[in-house]
Amino acid sequence: MDTHTKTLKVRVKNRHTAVLRRMAFECNQVWNEVNAVTDELGWIPIPEIGWMSGGGLSAFDLQKELKGIRARRGFIIGSATFQEIIAAHAKARRQFKKHKLRWRVSGGSKRSLGWVPFKIGAAKWDSGQVKFCGLKFGVFDSYGLKDYMFRSGSFSEDARGRWYFNVVVHYTATKSTSRTAIGIDLGLKDTATCSDGVRLERNERYREMEGKLAIAQRARNKTRVKAIHAKIKNRRADDNHKFSTRLVREHGAIFVGDVSSSKLAKTKMAKSVLDAGWFQLKTQLKYKAIARSVVFEEINEAYSTQTCSSCGVIPDSSPKGRAGLGVRHWICSCGEEHDRDINAALNILAAGGCSRLAGGIPVL
Ligand SMILES: [Zn+2]
Repeated sequence: MDTHTKTLKVRVKNRHTAVLRRMAFECNQVWNEVNAVTDELGWIPIPEIGWMSGGGLSAFDLQKELKGIRARRGFIIGSATFQEIIAAHAKARRQFKKHKLRWRVSGGSKRSLGWVPFKIGAAKWDSGQVKFCGLKFGVFDSYGLKDYMFRSGSFSEDARGRWYFNVVVHYTATKSTSRTAIGIDLGLKDTATCSDGVRLERNERYREMEGKLAIAQRARNKTRVKAIHAKIKNRRADDNHKFSTRLVREHGAIFVGDVSSSKLAKTKMAKSVLDAGWFQLKTQLKYKAIARSVVFEEINEAYSTQTCSSCGVIPDSSPKGRAGLGVRHWICSCGEEHDRDINAALNILAAGGCSRLAGGIPVL
């Protein structure tokens, strides 16, 4: 099993801005104290090594030096943040070969963007939120953070005053034990159809919400329009997540037709194509497959709808062109009855199987 490291960045909800600003203010004070100490001590010679900044003070010495500040000033940031600031300061001193760095400014036009770092163990995932310093922070969890072990990281602010939670995580690409392969046709009627007949149905709930959306748009109720849009988006993401997680759990290889949304968006099908959220589903399948060592491949899906998956010919009876869009079921000249989308998914699977076998990877 391979272990990898990556940094995940998620947006922190706005209600936490005030407390994060306060923490950042405290971090700036710690940074500046460290700066003052190392500046005062300057450079000292270390035999056989050379010169060392900050009087050669170790992180441990500095921690002792700063021990009292936390209690004296009633800081809410903990020792894991103190230690990380000291480490970051030392690293920057080495990098820039200076014993004094720039001050961190907490106000005015030269204000430093907020930064609250922490060492491993200080931030944890706790019932849907990030627990840090005894507080809980709501975040927009686009990664499924509960599946990761948090290491070190930081809270950081961008120029527009929005806060992010950045955390280093280890993850293991676990070898999938599943040996089955599946083809997926991304269609217009259903969002996705698998070669084994499983479908991600385009939800009736969307249509219901689309009705509400139309009413709100006619009433020019901007707030409501925005809210409904967000709701539809969330629901789709949720459906896509459930579907993609299930597929990577159940299969060892996934082949998806390479329909390009941009290509189809130019046609009259634009709305239903964009609504289907293909791109999102494909992206989710891809990264989840990689994390589980599941084979993932996009397959040229030309003729996958028209070709009979049993005999391999393109009979006159198969659905063709825009006129064929409404054809859901058809019978091949070989006598095989087809559901349009399952047949397409079977062809995609077959194409994927061939290219895989040629590559010599014994997944199938
Ligand atoms: Zn046939």
